Parts: sequence; C-alpha cells; structure tokens
Amino acid sequence: MNKSEELLRLKEKMQNDVSLPLREGATQLVFGEGNCDTELYFLGEAPGYYEDRDGRPFVGLAGKLLDQLIQSIGYARSDVYISNVVRFRPPANRDPLPEEIEAFQPYVDKEIEIINPKVIVTLGRFSMGKFLPEARISQVHGQVFNVDWNGKKVTVIPMYHPAAALRSTAILASIKEDFAKIKEFLEGKESSNSVENTENLESEKEEVNQLSLI
Ligand code: URA
Repeated sequence: MNKSEELLRLKEKMQNDVSLPLREGATQLVFGEGNCDTELYFLGEAPGYYEDRDGRPFVGLAGKLLDQLIQSIGYARSDVYISNVVRFRPPANRDPLPEEIEAFQPYVDKEIEIINPKVIVTLGRFSMGKFLPEARISQVHGQVFNVDWNGKKVTVIPMYHPAAALRSTAILASIKEDFAKIKEFLEGKESSNSVENTENLESEKEEVNQLSLI
C-alpha cells in the first residue's frame, strides 16, 4: 500500500469511528490534506466554520494567511501537508478539551507516521503541547527542537497560530520571521535545540491563554 492509500484507509477508519468526540455537532470530518511525500507537515488546532463547511483544513481567513506564509518560503500549499489535532469542529469554535485531543491522538500519530515528514510545524499551543508539553509559545516559537517522540526523533518547530497573527501585528511580524527560519533549517542554516531546553520552562497559563485562537 502506498502513502495515499494508507491515508485514505486512515480517513475511512476515522469516518467509521463512532467513539470520536464532537462528531454530533459537526457537519463532517476534516481530515488532513496535501502532499503525502512532503518534508513539511503543519499541525493546527481544530476545524472552524469554513473548514467544517468545506471538509478541508485551514480554508478560512487563518488558512489564507497560512497559504501566504507557506508561499513566502517558496512552497505552494499543495507541496506541504496540513492537518489538525482535532478533526471535528468544536461547538462555537471553543477550545478543544484535553480528552478530545486525546481521542484523536492515535489518528494524528498514525498520520505523522505515514507521512514521516522532515519537519513538524505546530500552529498554536494545542499542537505544540503534543510535542513540547512544558513549553511556552512566547519563548519557543520559531526555534527548532529535536524531540523524542513515540520512540523516534522528530524535528518540531512551534509557531504561533495564524489566527493570532490576524489579531496582532506583533505576532504577524513574529510568524513571518519564524517561517523564514523553517526555510533556513531546511537549507541547513538553522541549528536545533534538544527538547531538554524546554523542560524547565513553566507554563504560564495566562499568557498562553491569550493565544487561544479559534
Ligand atoms: N484553525 C485551525 O487550527 N485549523 C483549521 O483547520 C482552521 C483554523
């Protein structure tokens, strides 16, 4: 089975998994999309109104900004893979609950395993928490981390969520700079940190909460 067949099988499995939360209030499953042979895997939070309507990740305003940021480093949206930690829209776009993120986790893990990207770019605190649970986004955004994850080393670059950048010009400036660092890393110009660097960082809930987006 090739990667697209494996992803299709995974999508069908999710569609049939009645134990998944949030299904009731949503229009449809929003699976990941893009190039399954990519080196760049983007992981966001959860579908919003437009994603739920169209059944595709990041197609609303935040998605338009994400497309531009991806283009700014020389890629088209179709060159990369874009996905979310939660695959049904939470009611009224509320934050996903920890147990909801956990319920989708095996599927997200399998998707990453199939794609096996060179870099995982997390968008916002919920996807960052999957790999860097102790980190504060304001301290680590745009840095390259080598993380021990599910028994293997993965490279993770945490980013602010594009929706945060739509609300703050300072965050917009940061996210643009951070995207340039993805390119530098892929070209071998940006060095990486080990995950230990984040272990002593206390999470500062108030600050992170302000970055809660969609
Ligand atoms: N925000 C996300 O985190 N994911 C989407 O798919 C859209 C907006």
